[in-house]
Amino acid sequence: MGTSSSTVPCYSQDDVERLLDLDECIAAVRDAMAGLTEDGFDQPLRSGVRLAPGQGFALMPGVGHGKLGFGAKIISVFADPERPGRSAHRGVVIVFDRSSGHVCCLADAGAITAIRTGCASAVATAALAREDARVLTIFGTGVQARSHALAVSRVRKFELLVLWGRDLDLAEALKTELAAMLDLEIETACDGQAAAARADVICTVTGASTPILFRDWVRPGTHVNVVGSSSLGPAEVDGALVRDSRFVADYRRSALAAAAEFAAARQAGLVTDEHIVAEIGEVLLGRIAGRRSADEITLYKSLGHIVQDLAATACVHRAATSRARHPVSR
Ligand code: NDP
Repeated sequence: MGTSSSTVPCYSQDDVERLLDLDECIAAVRDAMAGLTEDGFDQPLRSGVRLAPGQGFALMPGVGHGKLGFGAKIISVFADPERPGRSAHRGVVIVFDRSSGHVCCLADAGAITAIRTGCASAVATAALAREDARVLTIFGTGVQARSHALAVSRVRKFELLVLWGRDLDLAEALKTELAAMLDLEIETACDGQAAAARADVICTVTGASTPILFRDWVRPGTHVNVVGSSSLGPAEVDGALVRDSRFVADYRRSALAAAAEFAAARQAGLVTDEHIVAEIGEVLLGRIAGRRSADEITLYKSLGHIVQDLAATACVHRAATSRARHPVSR
């Protein structure tokens, strides 16, 4: 394999979930996204093949900042035939050492993706939401809803978490799970308009193919993380919300190529390419202003980037190697 030693560490789902500290991951993803902008590499965009309806295979290669190395995520995204609307991300993240070219480690891509995506939205929320945000509303009740609740709730003094689901029983089940982990009041909702109207921060993390969140539902000053759609086609929010928000991408070139909500608004003549005012790294580096007023709606479009996977995997690798060096005595 071209490794520096005979064995390459391979971190399972369980390893990732056990070793990846959320606060460390948020900080690492923040540095990675600032570094992505600062380095200015012409990073390859995600490429993929649609194998069949609901079955995709994707490759995300790229170069991380500083010691993150370079690497790729190789992943399948398959709809669950037993549970319409649900899908599974499976595969590996492979990390190479920048100076030697050796393979450093592998990690379970499903677990890394679940956690790093919530952390990326936490970074955007920290940068763009009002300081006095107190109500967090999450649209969706799946893997990303869980990881967004855990990560985004860390970056503001939220008092209430509202979980919107089209199936209230699933929202209730997630509420029960999260109640044991978060010191927050949690409510469930199946009326999207009412759930959005109370929110200071909204995350859309669904597999919906047509909008589930509309401009008219969003009050002034809200920050919205739009996460669920990763390719042209399915759109979670309407064009008017895109038009009326200060639109920040995770990576500008990906957003221009694959942000479905932005593409639909552009196609409808509501916005031009210049409507993407920044990628998040430009805001983090202080090059472009994030939120400019208390009343502005800010929108972060997440498509995901390999540097987030490299950053999260580096945290896991660091934790594993430091535990190996300093085993806990019994
Ligand atoms: P899950 O399959 O675990 O959950 C999907 C959620 O979407 C469920 O709550 C499901 O509701 C809901 N949903 C599906 N269809 C609809 C619909 N038509 N209307 C309303 N709700 C719907 O997926 P994940 O949580 O892992 O991922 C969520 C989305 O985020 C996916 O589309 C995924 O591809 C995307 N994603 C984006 C990433 C990024 O970097 N931007 C990274 C990883 C994932 P129900 O349970 O009722 O079916």
